[in-house]
Amino acid sequence: MHCPFCNAEDTKVIDSRLVADGNQVRRRRECITCEERFTTFESAELLMPRLIKQKGAREPFNEDKLRAGMLKALEKRPVSLEQVDEAIGHICHRLRASGEREVPSKMVGELVMEELRKLDEVAYVRFASVYRSFKDLNEFREVIDSIEQGSKG
Ligand SMILES: [Zn+2]
Repeated sequence: MHCPFCNAEDTKVIDSRLVADGNQVRRRRECITCEERFTTFESAELLMPRLIKQKGAREPFNEDKLRAGMLKALEKRPVSLEQVDEAIGHICHRLRASGEREVPSKMVGELVMEELRKLDEVAYVRFASVYRSFKDLNEFREVIDSIEQGSKG
C-alpha cells in the first residue's frame, strides 16, 4: 500500500502480529522512500450483504425468512432439518464470500434453487414455480407430475 506520508508506492513490512484474538493482523510498515513508519490493521470483512429488491429497495438479509421459504418448499419431503441447516450454511457462506456489500435479492433465490436441487427435486420445482414465472404452465405441470410419479415408486 502507498505510504501515507509521501505517497510512495513501496513500503515494507517490518513487523506482523495477530491481534484481537487472532481476528486481526497488525503490521508495522516502513516507507522505502521517506523511511517513515506506520501501522496497518487487516481483518477479513465477512459481513452479510444487504439485498437489493427488484424495485431498488434495500433490505437486510434475513436468515429466518430464507429458512421459512425453504421449509415451505420442503413440506412433507424426506429432508432433515440438519440438511436444511447445512444448505442455509452454504448459501450464507456464498453470500459472505461474494465480498459484496449489496447483492440483488435474485442472487439469493438462485442460490436457494441450487441447494434445493441437490436436496430434493420436488422441493426444487415447488420453489422454482413460485420464484420463476414459467411461460408454459402445461409443460411445467408435466415436469412436476413426472417427478412426483417417479418418487412414489
Ligand atoms: Zn513515504
